[in-house]
Amino acid sequence: MKPRLAVVVPCYNEQEVLPETLTQLREALRRMCDADAISSDSFLLFVDDGSKDATWALIDAACDADETVSGLKLAGNVGHQNALIAGLEAAKDRCDCAVTIDADLQDDVGAIARMVEAFSNGCDIVFGVRSDRSSDSFFKRHTAQGFYRLMTALGAKSVYNHADFRLMSRRAIEALLQYGERNLFLRGIVPLLGFQTATVLYERGARRAGESKYPLRKMLSFAFDGITSFSIRPITLITWLGGLIILLCIAAVCYILVSYFTGHSVRGWSSMILSIWFLGGVQLLSIGIVGQYVGKIYLEAKRRPRYHIERFRAPADRADEKSDDKQA
Ligand code: UDP
Ligand code: MG
Repeated sequence: MKPRLAVVVPCYNEQEVLPETLTQLREALRRMCDADAISSDSFLLFVDDGSKDATWALIDAACDADETVSGLKLAGNVGHQNALIAGLEAAKDRCDCAVTIDADLQDDVGAIARMVEAFSNGCDIVFGVRSDRSSDSFFKRHTAQGFYRLMTALGAKSVYNHADFRLMSRRAIEALLQYGERNLFLRGIVPLLGFQTATVLYERGARRAGESKYPLRKMLSFAFDGITSFSIRPITLITWLGGLIILLCIAAVCYILVSYFTGHSVRGWSSMILSIWFLGGVQLLSIGIVGQYVGKIYLEAKRRPRYHIERFRAPADRADEKSDDKQA
């Protein structure tokens, strides 16, 4: 049987690019239908992540005009990761597999068909992996690659050069939704799920219109969240660093005592002050990192909901279910 596909698109203030995105995704869906790769009741699900511009009005109008389009309006801005979860949760019971893709057309719409093919061949998770990053700025390219390397060095499992462009089967989505943590970092969790996976290479283009919703500040906090949600190795490193410094201090005390008894006076106040400042800095940094983890525990312990739904223009029920009803 042909799979019913859902394409989940998180949108935050995307009015400039949305009309183009709609056209391209609709076209891609139609092509896959024509090629008999997916069932005809496959649908697009646009998740409006509390946009302040005309994004929802555009989605709403598209839902009226085309029955393959559906929309989910969140009550406020909860961030890309939570918007994705909201979309997957809404789509899950109405599809066999779901692809998540950014609204700005940086991800290659044409790669969706290859993902569906891998799904039809038995894969539960298909990662979209960038074959090159030449369209990113020098800064973005290097910070992003440094981040993947750091994540791997710190022991978190992540797929190199894969962001949030991926296909998941219904049961993989169900497994994902069992992870109850509020602080979600999908590209760290999805590789942990297991299942049979595949990768699809694609070229990442430039943002088609509008501006990046990830300024440097948001990017840094996203990267920091990613690391502290997945690895306690920074805390281990701090512990080792503390031990090392204590050993160095013992050695220094021994040296000073020996100098004292052999009659050599110890000189150099400035170096002493500098070392005190240095150690003070190390301590503050260490406390700060430990504090980040404690803060995470605090946020998780509250178990707040990830998002609230304001409106849902749901896709039609499954065609096969409808025909079952008629038979009954
Ligand atoms: N996005 C979102 N909520 C946010 C920020 C971004 O849903 O708070 C969406 C955005 O509309 C886009 C995707 O997440 O579809 C990726 O954002 P963007 O393209 O701005 O990030 P970049 O590609 O620059 O990392
Ligand atoms: Mg983008």
